[in-house]
Amino acid sequence: MSDTQRIEELRDAIRRHDRLYYVEASPEISDRQYDALMDELKRLEDKHPELVTEDSPTQRVGGEPVEGFETVDHAVAMLSIDNTYNVDEVRTFDQRVRNELGSNGFDYLVDPKIDGVAVSLRYESGRLAIGATRGNGRQGDDITANVRAVASVPLRLTGDDVPDVVEARGEMYWPRGSFAAFNAKRAEQGEQTFANPRNGTAGTLKQLDPRIVAQRGLAFIAHGFGDISERIADRASAIMDTFRRWGLPTSADASVCEDVDAVMDAIDAWARRRSEADYETDGMVVKVDELDLRDELGATSKHPRWCIAYKYEAERAETHLREVSYQVGRLGTITPVAHFDEVHLSGTKVTNASLHNFDQVERLDVRLGDAIAIEKAGEIIPQVVQVNHAKRPKNAKRITPPETCPACGGPARRDPGGVYLRCIDPECPAQLRERLKFFAGRNQMDIDHLGEKIVDQLVDRGLVEHFADLYQLTVEDVKQLDRMADKSARNLVDAIRSSKDRGLARVLAGLGIRYVGNRAAEIIADHYGDMDALLDAGREDLEQLDEIGPVIAESLHQFLHSKRGRGTIRRLKNVDVDMTSHRAASDGDGPLAGKTVVVTGSLDGYSRKEAEDAIEAVGGRVTSSVSSNTDFVVVGAKPGSKVDKAERLGVERIDEDEFRKRLSTG
Ligand SMILES: [Zn+2]
Repeated sequence: MSDTQRIEELRDAIRRHDRLYYVEASPEISDRQYDALMDELKRLEDKHPELVTEDSPTQRVGGEPVEGFETVDHAVAMLSIDNTYNVDEVRTFDQRVRNELGSNGFDYLVDPKIDGVAVSLRYESGRLAIGATRGNGRQGDDITANVRAVASVPLRLTGDDVPDVVEARGEMYWPRGSFAAFNAKRAEQGEQTFANPRNGTAGTLKQLDPRIVAQRGLAFIAHGFGDISERIADRASAIMDTFRRWGLPTSADASVCEDVDAVMDAIDAWARRRSEADYETDGMVVKVDELDLRDELGATSKHPRWCIAYKYEAERAETHLREVSYQVGRLGTITPVAHFDEVHLSGTKVTNASLHNFDQVERLDVRLGDAIAIEKAGEIIPQVVQVNHAKRPKNAKRITPPETCPACGGPARRDPGGVYLRCIDPECPAQLRERLKFFAGRNQMDIDHLGEKIVDQLVDRGLVEHFADLYQLTVEDVKQLDRMADKSARNLVDAIRSSKDRGLARVLAGLGIRYVGNRAAEIIADHYGDMDALLDAGREDLEQLDEIGPVIAESLHQFLHSKRGRGTIRRLKNVDVDMTSHRAASDGDGPLAGKTVVVTGSLDGYSRKEAEDAIEAVGGRVTSSVSSNTDFVVVGAKPGSKVDKAERLGVERIDEDEFRKRLSTG
């Protein structure tokens, strides 16, 4: 094969892989293989400079910075889109469109509104000729050199049906991941960071040196079109499909909706998913899909009349950091909390937000007095997401980690290798308070009426120094608390008492042992059946359980065998807190309902799994260790030490025949 042929072959291959990567998001080769193709092409082009063309994939980034940007006229005006924050106005828009068209027989193309910079890409004879900003809508800046440097912009459209002129319009944006990495690196180097991806994109496209643009990792998504020299389809959605086929990235999150109700659903659905996208979006654009109907509707001087943008309420707000306080969690974690001038986010007032840890404080480089941006992550928890360092006041004060626990004055230590600062005093009242609140929580002991304010008072008045103290509170004790009437005191005491029967899993979860959450607690309680059996378990036994790794096993084992852990368990037992696992048994129905059974040795008629399934099928519970709560032990051939333990505890032992009988008769 001649070099000329090979060069063409390589260019086609690279374009195809660009398309697979940027448009289809399904690459077929590794980055390394891609680089090898590119290297080979570069070598051949170096050998034959006369064969280098402008649209060769090697020619994305020109050699020299440009002096400035020329002005270009848009062949078709880039009008801005009318927008609203009010969903009712989307319905009003729909009503108006239907009135004007006198018809319901059309669809809407609905597309997330990417928060980037609008650009127009003009292809002539399939080759990228001009990239331009929107500017004033009639004229924009010629940023061709910069858009060429954006990897997802095809330099050439592929397909034998590409018309002479194709203008794709869309959004240049900075993917969240690479934006965050870029900003972090800038901050590390003491350079100014960008406030958000949109500002970053705008700043990048204004660079005179396209090599800088190439390094930043911007991306492009087409969502519309300007001048196209042939009519290639009747619907905008079909044009977008065609664009994809030619190698232009389009939104994977666009949808065609048959009426305004479907549009509303799409708006709702995206509101829930938009935080997961790799680009920031601030709304949804709703466009009539049929092109001849668009012509019929026309435009005002500013906006097309066939299109509206619904914008999600701004979730980011700027404010000033006034103070940082510290919260001590139930595990002693000391968390810095930012207090700032009130802002409104998604309809709620926000005055504080967690700063998470001191690494985060450093990462944000935040100081008292700084201008900060607050966002609601997952629509719920406000976060300090950014600091506007350009606006830093001269007297901005550094935030230094406390050396002692702000609650008890005890020593505060940083976790070895971790990012958290921790109060290591187990008697810390702040920790006790948080532990009690957690213990009483819905997913743990689920104690009604035992709210935060009551816990605070119980601790402050010295009425409760330990979980077990809760169970010894009398109505008289509780009546001392603020605004506690006779009846509510009685209700609280009753609620606490009735939580005694929650069972082992809830107790384990409620103790707040590090890494032992509800799921782990359930698995462990189910397996061991009661606290005594659990206390007999070795660390290795715990590790063997499904979903329980060495970290959980270690933490739990350490707690159970620590002085504090043993004391806690003893005290809870003394006040009759149930520490058996009765979940499955109480749910069960059948001959073995409520029975706890252990199987040891091998049976002739059942595998171990079959035996366990058979027991559970008739309402019984299977545990691995024998304890005083075991009802009977099924003993097969070559039984282990469990038989001895059963004998010692006086637990009934039965053979396989008897087992078979009990499965049907109990
Ligand atoms: Zn403390």
